[in-house]
Amino acid sequence: MSEILVLVEHVDGEVKKVTLELLTLARSLGSPSAVWAGPGYTPEAKARLAEYGAEKIYVADAEEITGYVVAPKAELLAKLVGEAAPGAVLIAATPEGKEVAGRLAIKTDSGVITDAVGVGEGFVAEQSIFGGGVNVKSRVTKGTPIIAVRPNSTAPEPAPAAGAEVQVTVELSDAARGAKIVERVKQEKGARPELTEAAIVVAGGRGVGSAENFALIERLADSLGAAVGASRAATDAQWYPHQFQIGQTGKTVSPQLYIAVGISGAIQHRAGMQTAKTIMAINKDPEAPIFELADFGVVGDLFKVVPQLVDEIEKR
Ligand code: FAD
Repeated sequence: MSEILVLVEHVDGEVKKVTLELLTLARSLGSPSAVWAGPGYTPEAKARLAEYGAEKIYVADAEEITGYVVAPKAELLAKLVGEAAPGAVLIAATPEGKEVAGRLAIKTDSGVITDAVGVGEGFVAEQSIFGGGVNVKSRVTKGTPIIAVRPNSTAPEPAPAAGAEVQVTVELSDAARGAKIVERVKQEKGARPELTEAAIVVAGGRGVGSAENFALIERLADSLGAAVGASRAATDAQWYPHQFQIGQTGKTVSPQLYIAVGISGAIQHRAGMQTAKTIMAINKDPEAPIFELADFGVVGDLFKVVPQLVDEIEKR
């Protein structure tokens, strides 16, 4: 079984859910090795990675690795690709992950596939392209397959493994030191899950009508422990911050459940949400295109439907 390298995403020493998904996926492809880049590695992190099947954990915990923008992670992975000759490298298709994947592909003279929603036998990756209108299966034909996989594409399942530690030191090149991080500013996270990782997303569109009315969307989201998203119409109107925009020019989400409230379902919006496992739409127009995509649809006024829905959920 070939070794599959999985770049760990971590925040404040905690392993992010997407890494557990990638380890689960890696188990179906070979034997997973986690790659920890930067400080913050703890026995708890080790236990978590081993719990989800990491046979080996490469630990490069020098401050330097995360002290510069992205490039050191690509250098670390390139070194490991050279030494371990893995069957493939899996990286989360987050903005940073995709940049690491691209840089790694150049360094190792390999092919790269980004935004995969699945990877099967022979490292054949599945992508949803052209705004989601077409599904493509592709395979890297040169070098080591480097595949960036969208969060929420695989359900994480534990399967304990050895988690043997291997310390790694990397001599960073001058190029990797090209852009230094001078300050990290923590964004107000609040109690809601991160949009691209959330299992449930509730998104509001132009039908919501105002910034104040987004409180209704937030109430529904909070009753379900969901993240809040918005269509571009809503973010352009400044009813909700741009960082929560979903779609072609916003974020891509693949939650278990996506609830579109007052969103028509334009192709550019679909591009960011149509790989959701279950889609529910609330819209007063029975002809709204979102209903073509939805598994469940409620034709009605959101100002009547959403409060009733929240009341019902809160009773349970
Ligand atoms: P509308 O299309 O106006 O739909 C509002 C819906 O709300 C309607 O279906 C209406 O029936 C319903 N409604 C109204 N009142 C109520 C009510 N009281 N109860 C229930 N339903 C109600 N859009 C994105 O979302 N994300 C992107 O990333 C994005 N990128 C784009 C990139 C480009 C290059 C372009 C050209 C466009 C992009 N767009 C994007 C815009 C996209 O084309 C649509 O204009 C946008 O998605 C529409 O948002 P909406 O569905 O909220 O609004």
